Amino acid sequence: MKENTDSCQDSAVSELNEEPLISEIEIQHRTVELARRIASDINSDEIVIISVLKGAFMFTADLIRRLAKYMHYIQLDFIRAKSYGDSTKSSGNLIIETDTTIDLAGKCVLIVDDIIDTGNTLSKLTVHLRDKGAGEIKTCVLLDKPSRREVVFKPDYVGFDIPNHFVVGYGLDFAEKYRSLPYITCVQESENECK
Ligand code: 5GP
Ligand code: MG
Repeated sequence: MKENTDSCQDSAVSELNEEPLISEIEIQHRTVELARRIASDINSDEIVIISVLKGAFMFTADLIRRLAKYMHYIQLDFIRAKSYGDSTKSSGNLIIETDTTIDLAGKCVLIVDDIIDTGNTLSKLTVHLRDKGAGEIKTCVLLDKPSRREVVFKPDYVGFDIPNHFVVGYGLDFAEKYRSLPYITCVQESENECK
């Protein structure tokens, strides 16, 4: 296989902290535990998983396969909501760019997101999906930055609490880079040192 040695790739990699913050194995173990907990809490064999694009695509793909062991009728839909541009700061506003298409009326819904930060995205998405007729709504995030919360919101299921660093990998990006990494790491910026 051709090695990626061009200068563009070199400068991109130098932005990253060398040590993973959360390894691939840690993510996989936690995903198994989360699926077990979700399946034992949700009193139904049916659920609609709503994956928040793009960041949650990888976590959703792993979680849904673990859940399939316990639940037989899982529907999958996607919603694309944006509160971040190509920067590490939230714009504060949530724009729904692509909405769900499955009929949610009365159904048990599990929103799966990559990370909760200020809490704006998940609190607004929950209201939006309730307005679309969803029944019980649960939320699951891989990562939580509790110190950054601006609205009161506690996800039902959290993979890992993390400090206030801008993280990438396992679906999460920095200006559309690094989504394909199989682990979570930090972007190194002067004000965002990953310790
Ligand atoms: P919130 O609305 O809770 O402030 O932010 C939620 C969204 O912001 C996440 O779904 C994610 O897209 C983005 N976000 C928040 N913190 C980070 C981070 O550390 N890294 C990346 N890549 N995205 C983040
Ligand atoms: Mg997101």
